[in-house]
Order: sequence, then structure tokens, then C-alpha cells
Amino acid sequence: MTPDQLAPALAELDTHSLRRVRRVLDGPQGVRVTLDGTSYLSFSSNDYLGLANHPALAEAVRKAVANIGVGAGAAHLLTGHHRLHHSLENELAKFVGLPAALLFSTGYMASLGVLPALLNRHGEVFEDKLNHASLVDAAVLSRAKLTRYPHADMAMLEQRLASSTAKVKLIATDTVFSMDGDLAPLAELQALARRYDAWLYLDDAHGFGVLGKHGQGALALLDDRNDPRLIYLATLGKAAGVAGAFVAGSAELIEWLVNKARTYVFTTAQPPMLAAAVSASLRLIAADGWRRAHLLELIERLKSGLAGLPWPLMPSATPIQPVLVGGNAEALRLAEALRAQGILLPAIRPPTVPPGEARLRISLSAAHSQTDVDTLCAALHALARHD
Ligand SMILES: *Cc1c(COP(=O)(O)O)cnc(C)c1O
Repeated sequence: MTPDQLAPALAELDTHSLRRVRRVLDGPQGVRVTLDGTSYLSFSSNDYLGLANHPALAEAVRKAVANIGVGAGAAHLLTGHHRLHHSLENELAKFVGLPAALLFSTGYMASLGVLPALLNRHGEVFEDKLNHASLVDAAVLSRAKLTRYPHADMAMLEQRLASSTAKVKLIATDTVFSMDGDLAPLAELQALARRYDAWLYLDDAHGFGVLGKHGQGALALLDDRNDPRLIYLATLGKAAGVAGAFVAGSAELIEWLVNKARTYVFTTAQPPMLAAAVSASLRLIAADGWRRAHLLELIERLKSGLAGLPWPLMPSATPIQPVLVGGNAEALRLAEALRAQGILLPAIRPPTVPPGEARLRISLSAAHSQTDVDTLCAALHALARHD
């Protein structure tokens, strides 16, 4: 791409309705948001527990800022590794039930750091076709061979593992798939990782805080956490309501990452005030079981409320509830009709999802009320009647 190619390339995006635009948010993130000056009932954030604007988190930041200021000032291996980071790592490891944890500035950076620290061009990474982009990019950056298997197809994955001659193998998967809301077959994945002596890298961006009795995430669904091949990633900007991410695993793994994960070593530590906010968030995630219980009620209410629509809900037990519309134009038309009524949710189209599977992605939050869900259901039924 040269400078003079940019304008025509952007125009080309316009021609295919593929140009992405940003809308400006005023005020806090939440289920009622003001975007470009208009207020909406929103089903389009990852703030699953409604913690992004929680007073306890804001207060934790205020207190930390008053004591220690804003910037971390240096990388973790220099003078940037604050006691708040250090205690939070211990809390996080304990919370998910693994020996050790390491904070990263974002989930994207965590994956870009971990895979290249463990694999080189003699390795092979096995990825679900529907994995998040950061996992694909991390594999590419590691220079290992990248093998993608059809969504959740364990027979195909086993075939590929069996025929691999790579010295180091790593299976990477989303635990909750971000555009479908379904769960990866965790027990089968763990069994395959054992049988073929592969690392199992679980990206729990959409599970942490949501899955498990106390919100510990996808690991709560795993029989055996005591497995040195297990690498767990959770992000802290979604259900946890703050920012950043952590990787958890064996003490040796974490020690290796401290030394070798380039996105850990060569970057400024996150402001320690955010670690204070995550600690506060962790307490709420564990204590406020009602947030998860309410979410489950909302999911059930949505499912029964949307029954009988011409567009089926995709099978999902998580707060990500996609309505399968099919055609791109149709999905876009429905999203725009909802927006005109003050309801915000995204139309997800190819290449993010396969052709013919355009969908409306409903994202529920514990901050939604039953009335909010009823409002959405009624609006979709009205649109179906007018078709
Ligand atoms: C959001 C997301 C990430 C990236 O996490 P950030 O902290 O936002 O960089 C990684 N993986 C999945 C599956 C995600 O949904």
C-alpha cells in the first residue's frame, strides 16, 4: 500500500459497504449509552457483569491514583512492576486455581507474547477455524506451522495431531466463541493435548467472570487443572470491566514468560491503578453471584421471547446470543431498523462469519433488566410481522 493507493482503496471499501466507522461514546459504558449524541438501549458491549462503571472500581482507582499517581513509568523488568501488579497476579492465580499468573497489557498482546515464547519454525499450532484474530496472528508471529481445523471438529484435530512431526505442538482455542457464543469441547481438547503431548492454550476472553459458580471462567468446567500443558488466558476488559489480561499456568511456564514473552518484556507496565481496579472487580465477581444468576435468567427470557421468529437463535448458553439472519443486506436492514427504534446491536457479516451466516449479535449484560430484554424481543417480532 503506497500513500497514493490509500484513497482508492478506501473508496473500494465504500463500494462494498465494508468501510468501518467509529461512533463516539459520551458518558459511561453500559446498557444505556449515548453514541454520536443519540441514546440507545445497547446489546453490544462485552461488559457482561455490568462492572465497567461500578462505583467500587472507580473508587479503587481514585484511591490508587491519590497514593501512587498515574503512570507505571517503566517496563515490569525495570522499575514498573508495582506491588499492586504483584498482589493482583497472586490473587488471579488463586482465583482460577493455577500455580501462577502474569499480567499483560491486553489479551491481544498476551497471545502475541506467549506463542512466540514457546514455539519456533519447528513447532506446529492447531487452531479452531473460528478462533479470535489474535490467536491466528500469534501463531503467524511464532513462525510455527499453522494448522486450522473445522469448528470444534475433534476427529479432524486428532487426525492432524497424529500426522504432525513437529517437536513442539500447541492447540489454541477460544473457550467461548466470540461470534457464536458456543463453548469449545474442553474435555476432549484436554484429552487430545495429553495424548499428543501438546500445549493447550485456552483463550477465555468471554468466559472469565461469566462461567463457573464463582465466575472463575472456563477452567471451572475442566476436570483436571493440574496439567503442566495447560495455559490459560483471560482478558480483564470484558466481564471484569477494566482492561488488560493475564496468563496462568505452571510456575515454570510463568517464569519462562517473564523472561521470554516479548510483549511482556518490551513494553511499559499497565498503570498500577488499573491493577487496583481489577482487584476490586475480582471481589465483586466472586461475591456477586446474583449477577451471573440474573444473566442466566435473561438468557432464558430472551430464548423464549424470540421463539417463533423467522430467524433462529444460534445454540448458545452464554451471554452471546446470535440471531441467525442469513443474508448480509437483511442483517444490516434489521440492525438499522432496530437502531431507528433506539436499540443497538451489531450486524455481523462475512468475512467475520461464513457467507450466508450474517447475524445479529445480541450481547446480554447483568445490567440489563427483564424489561430491556422484552423490549428487544417485541421489536424483533414487530419487524418480522412487517416483512
Ligand atoms: C477481546 C478478545 C481478545 C483480545 O483481548 P483484549 O484484551 O481486548 O486485547 C482476545 N481473544 C478473544 C477471544 C477476545 O474476544
